[in-house]
Amino acid sequence: MTNLLGFDRAGLIGFCEGLGEKAFRATQLFRWIHQKGAVQFEDMTDLAKPLREKLLTCATITPLRVLERHDSKDGTIKWLFDVGEGNAIETVFIPEEDRATLCISSQAGCAVGCTFCSTGYQGFSRNLTTAEILAQLWYVEHTLRLERAKAAEVPMSKGGVVLALKSPNKALNSSNNNAQERIISNVVMMGMGEPLQNYSALVPALRAMLDDHGYGLSRRRVTVSTSGVVPMIERLAQDAPVALALSLHAPTDALRDTLVPLNRKYPIEQLLESCRAYLTHAPRDFITLEYCLLDGVNDHEEHALALIELLAPKRLHAFPCKINLIPFNPFKESGMKRSKPDQIKRFSQLLLAAGLVCTVRKTRGDDIDAACGQLAGDVVDRTHVLTRRSAPLKSLGEEMLRTTPAATELKLD
Ligand code: SAH
Ligand code: SF4
Repeated sequence: MTNLLGFDRAGLIGFCEGLGEKAFRATQLFRWIHQKGAVQFEDMTDLAKPLREKLLTCATITPLRVLERHDSKDGTIKWLFDVGEGNAIETVFIPEEDRATLCISSQAGCAVGCTFCSTGYQGFSRNLTTAEILAQLWYVEHTLRLERAKAAEVPMSKGGVVLALKSPNKALNSSNNNAQERIISNVVMMGMGEPLQNYSALVPALRAMLDDHGYGLSRRRVTVSTSGVVPMIERLAQDAPVALALSLHAPTDALRDTLVPLNRKYPIEQLLESCRAYLTHAPRDFITLEYCLLDGVNDHEEHALALIELLAPKRLHAFPCKINLIPFNPFKESGMKRSKPDQIKRFSQLLLAAGLVCTVRKTRGDDIDAACGQLAGDVVDRTHVLTRRSAPLKSLGEEMLRTTPAATELKLD
């Protein structure tokens, strides 16, 4: 059985052609899945019966299993999904006045091993499949749509779209605007994992996000965040030039080598050159540079000055960028601390005074261009999640739960 959540439209066309079906049938199917949230082929009323019967024998639309859901008072919602063999991934929904962002995971664990990142400490478990990446968006979009429709007391009618999530038998009238209104306006690949080390699964997922028959998101509203996999930045520019965020975190190779081990392979000059080249393809007119402020490690005046020097417009590889300063979310194993508020202020003032564009990520869930669990709000000791989950997981025969840097508890007040 093939999980149809694992295809972009081109992939689904290929799959349908294998069944002897025309391309436009695949497009219809794609719309049923991603635009309407259908999971049962019998509900896809405009597909011919023989096709629906064929699909029943060889295909499924299988979502991820939800382990936990946390709703914060500010509207941020975090889900922990089971991806099997004791691995869990996190997805975070962050609503704002003018947009709603979903922060998505790309891997269970991460092989890059950044010293300030809890996923880095957990090591690499495995790549997520395209289906697992897209299932995060699919589930949240259609779950929240259904909830919104219910809250607005949208009358349910027979024969409409079936959203087979928690309430598989509840049918929504497909012409109802409330039920069909798009919820998620932005996606950031800033959850667990290094998306550019899972490139072949990532690209079809991005394409389904951008597809007008899928989620119809503009390229500016889908952001891939990377620790700097240079060859894949170059390929992304060709294959799916969405907005790019680079996790810089240090102005010199000597320091970055210690924080982001991948820097030894792809040093800063190469990274910046690939960012500059990326902008010749990408829709955004700037690259976001993420800089996690670590007390006494990378937050001194000398680091700010070196960063200014590195990014100064007079340099050959200079390109338009926005620096996003991220107050570190501490966790025990890192042995590091968040920079003091005065230090953060001083650091940002130096950058601003030098003419660089710079914002400080708030620790509440109100600045959504940022990383997943970190941006979703102030977070508390993530090991609580592990402790709380251990009992039910053991009863499922699972030995260990891995969580994302984002798989932390949201502070709910
Ligand atoms: N692997 C990708 C995307 C996932 S991490 C990357 O590294 O860019 C998303 C962002 O969260 C990155 O900028 C990362 O550096 C940051 N981050 C990781 N751990 C953090 C922590 N403990 N506190 C603050 N930001 C963190
Ligand atoms: Fe991986 Fe990103 Fe964490 Fe580094 S910061 S270990 S690249 S998830």
